[in-house]
Amino acid sequence: MGDAFAYKCRKCGYEEYFNQGHGFLVHPQSVKEYLGLRTKLFHYKTHNKIVRLAKENKNLMIKATFQIYICPNCELLYDKAEVKVYDENKTIHRSRFRCSHCNSKLKLTNIHRLSRATCPVCKKKTFHRDHALHELWD
Ligand SMILES: [Zn+2]
Ligand SMILES: [Zn+2]
Repeated sequence: MGDAFAYKCRKCGYEEYFNQGHGFLVHPQSVKEYLGLRTKLFHYKTHNKIVRLAKENKNLMIKATFQIYICPNCELLYDKAEVKVYDENKTIHRSRFRCSHCNSKLKLTNIHRLSRATCPVCKKKTFHRDHALHELWD
């Protein structure tokens, strides 16, 4: 279960949904279990990194959820599947993303507080939450 947050540009009318989940792309499970799956869900670089970490650390867990990120520089929004690899003590690996426009490091954002962002089409700061289009997905 998660939420799809709609944004609509008041200038050019462009509309996009951003997913944020309690819905798991990968349910919390051991990395060993995950590597036993036939499907490779992630980019091969991420996958290879997980394989490497699993060799170096015992009892690793993995989970992946959809999170919404913002570029602190140009204020474009992104939804990304954040992969987290962790053990009982600490986070070993967490996905990092970069803005495809300016290459800045993206920041996790709280969509509930974010009412305005940059429209990816016309690049104006007229990209607003559209509460009427809010959807639930599972
Ligand atoms: Zn626009
Ligand atoms: Zn940017």
